[in-house]
Amino acid sequence: MEIKGAVLNFFRSLKCVIEEKDGTFIIKHISEKIESYFGIKSGVKISFDRDKSPIEALFIDENSDLLRKIKDYLKNSSSKTLIKLDFDLPKDIMSKIRLRNCSLSKIEKKHENNYFSRFSFLTSLRALNKTDQISNEIYVHEGKVVKGDLSNYKVSEGNVKEASTEHLERDYAVARDTLKNMLKDKISEFGAELNEKLNKETERIDLHYNQVLKEFNTNKNKLLERIKEAEANNEQEKLKKLKESFSQMFSEKEEKKITNERDVVVGNEKSKYSLDIDNKLINTTVIYYPIFKIQVTLNEAGFSKDFELVYNPLTEEMSQIQCDSCKTQLDQINVCRGGHICCSSCLHLCNECGKRYCRQCFSGICDSCGKLVCKNCARKCSDCGKLNCKNCMRKVGKTGIEKCSSCVVYCPICSSIVDKKQLVRAGDGRMVCRNCSFNSKSK
Ligand SMILES: [Zn+2]
Ligand SMILES: [Zn+2]
Ligand SMILES: [Zn+2]
Ligand SMILES: [Zn+2]
Ligand SMILES: [Zn+2]
Ligand SMILES: [Zn+2]
Repeated sequence: MEIKGAVLNFFRSLKCVIEEKDGTFIIKHISEKIESYFGIKSGVKISFDRDKSPIEALFIDENSDLLRKIKDYLKNSSSKTLIKLDFDLPKDIMSKIRLRNCSLSKIEKKHENNYFSRFSFLTSLRALNKTDQISNEIYVHEGKVVKGDLSNYKVSEGNVKEASTEHLERDYAVARDTLKNMLKDKISEFGAELNEKLNKETERIDLHYNQVLKEFNTNKNKLLERIKEAEANNEQEKLKKLKESFSQMFSEKEEKKITNERDVVVGNEKSKYSLDIDNKLINTTVIYYPIFKIQVTLNEAGFSKDFELVYNPLTEEMSQIQCDSCKTQLDQINVCRGGHICCSSCLHLCNECGKRYCRQCFSGICDSCGKLVCKNCARKCSDCGKLNCKNCMRKVGKTGIEKCSSCVVYCPICSSIVDKKQLVRAGDGRMVCRNCSFNSKSK
């Protein structure tokens, strides 16, 4: 199973096309370089099931030549692949934008690339004479691991000139950490199995050497008895011989030899059971796709407004558009004559000029007539400071200064507009403009 996954993944990483028929795999689109390296031809049939393998197919097991060559090949190379996901801006893109008070006058598309990285790892876990190979593919997008599956996309070979590889190093670090976590269970499972075997083995070794030591001590004691006996009987010749053989066979050095040998055997056993982990990066794929930037020009009664929308064809998401006034997300777009984009409830008609403006562009309500007016149509009276519409302001005399209608009056004699504060009392008691008061006095 592991061999099958590794071999098929290997051909997949070389962008070969793999077809399966009754458990036999046909590998197509093998590059010339690979054909000659492996001594195979495009269209080669491979099988992983000895019983069902057809005669013309190459049967692959852990001893097969092809597997060995793949391993060698991988040892010497980590390939890089560039893949482009082909997307076009959907034709109905504008149906995603609902325009309310305006119409579309121009659309222009540009694009930038968004990137994914795919890292294919082949991990070998080796201990005793067992090797497990695990292949993993990890996709990273903007520094995060994502689920990847390209099978539903139109894919083409990327262009080195178009794609940036700046993000690869950072993405690789993320993938490597993820791989470690993915392997944790497998490694501890493998390790536990080994430990169990090792414990049994060391137990067996200990048992054996305990027995050897026991025998050593029994024989040593026996000899000591005999030495004592010879001493008691004062058999000098025998005593000398016995002591000689004691120092030859039962010295501390001899005992140490046994324990040393035991330690070496245990050490050897431990190294045999140690787990050797080899993570190999087989392939790095830079995958990129366009992010469309759409320059839209909207038109409202001869007034035009440009703005930019961003469309991600992968997520099929359009950038969110906010009302410039209330910041809610817009599902319908209105153009304000002040150059803003706004929702329908923030768009109002200026009662003075008849144009539609957003809340930001409104000044307020005229103090004199109660009309809602835009900034262009609003005036502030220099006398009372109140907001008035253009229409409710009056020009004072010949000065051209405008004041609100509450701050001016008509002179009862000459009918000119006069600042209320500038009125003077005439001889007949009426309040008149300075001119008329002067004229009446001079008569
Ligand atoms: Zn709004
Ligand atoms: Zn206005
Ligand atoms: Zn506005
Ligand atoms: Zn007014
Ligand atoms: Zn005023
Ligand atoms: Zn007058």
